Parts: sequence; structure tokens; C-alpha cells
Amino acid sequence: MEFGSGGRDAGDRARRQLQAAGRAAAYLGGGFLLLSAASSVAVRSLRSLSDANQRKFAAPCGACEGKGTYACRLCRGSSTIEWSPLHDPVFVNPCLCPTCDGTRVQRCLNCLGKGYA
Ligand SMILES: [Zn+2]
Ligand SMILES: [Zn+2]
Repeated sequence: MEFGSGGRDAGDRARRQLQAAGRAAAYLGGGFLLLSAASSVAVRSLRSLSDANQRKFAAPCGACEGKGTYACRLCRGSSTIEWSPLHDPVFVNPCLCPTCDGTRVQRCLNCLGKGYA
């Protein structure tokens, strides 16, 4: 009867199983990474697809006629506003329009600049 050899075998087997489990975990981890990368790509392509569908089938925005922007309502397209601190017509200062920052257009609030609702 040799007790020692049997014990050593069991230990070897346990070590081998541990190594196999480690390899499996590494494999699964890699697979998970691959899967998450693939799913994020799929989500991105799905999102762009639905965006294209929306663009194709959605009615153009009525507020901006599908342009996504309209002439600034505050400065009425002049890019500056006449601002007078004293309500005195002599001291009227032309100021850069705070709504459009001088771009003369503002983003459509109805469609958020997308041009379709
Ligand atoms: Zn403006
Ligand atoms: Zn719009």
C-alpha cells in the first residue's frame, strides 16, 4: 500500500483541472469581449439604420421646413440686436445676438435641428 503516490496523483489532477478552468475562463473572457464589441457594432448600425429610416419616412419639420434651422427670431436675421440700457434711442448699442451668436439662424426647437419630426 502506498499512500503517497495516490495523493500526488490527486494533486496533479486538481492542478490540471485548475489550469483547464483557467484556460476556459480566458477563452470565455475573450469571447465576452468579442461579443460585447460585436453587439456595440450591431447597436451602432441599428441606430444608424433607424436614423436613416426616420429620415426617409418622417415628415419634414413644419417649423423649419426641413432645414433644421430657421432665421433667428430675436435679431430677425440681422445677427445683432439693438439694446439700450436706458430705453433711450440715442444710446442704442448694436449687440451680438445672444440667441444665435451672430450666425443669424437658430436651431429649430421643434425638431432639434434634425429637419424632420
Ligand atoms: Zn439672432
Ligand atoms: Zn424643425
